[in-house]
Amino acid sequence: GVKKNYKKVRSRVMTYDTENIFAKILRGEIPNTTVYENEYVLAFEDINPQAPIHILIVPKGPYTDMADFSLSAAGEEQVAFTKSISEVVTIAQLEATGFRAIANTGIDGLQEVPHYHLHILGGGPLGPMVNR
Ligand code: AMP
Repeated sequence: GVKKNYKKVRSRVMTYDTENIFAKILRGEIPNTTVYENEYVLAFEDINPQAPIHILIVPKGPYTDMADFSLSAAGEEQVAFTKSISEVVTIAQLEATGFRAIANTGIDGLQEVPHYHLHILGGGPLGPMVNR
């Protein structure tokens, strides 16, 4: 039920792993190819692209996944994150041809990196919606 999931999200908040690879990228310990950046958000190219254009949008705050971010991030962070989507889409010239946004979350979502990130995929036909 909803209540159970809420508790699950709260417990993930408590266990944010500061050594995850995107935390290291945000601290500048690992290089990245930046596409867009502002006070609250970093967007960079995926190292193993699944489409001709594959960009990850990451909030700078310590949020494990989309559910954690939407529950716990400040309004300012959430607005900045949402607005960064249009910035990235414009920079990557995806407006005319379209794109797909994916937030793999938790165990069933096969999330690999436990820091919230939105995949922006485009540059060609993307195939079925779910096929991982
Ligand atoms: P997910 O499975 O949704 O957690 O996606 C993690 C994504 O991070 C994958 O698409 C990886 O290719 C990508 N990734 C892992 N390490 C790096 C890195 N150092 N720089 C850029 N992307 C990375």
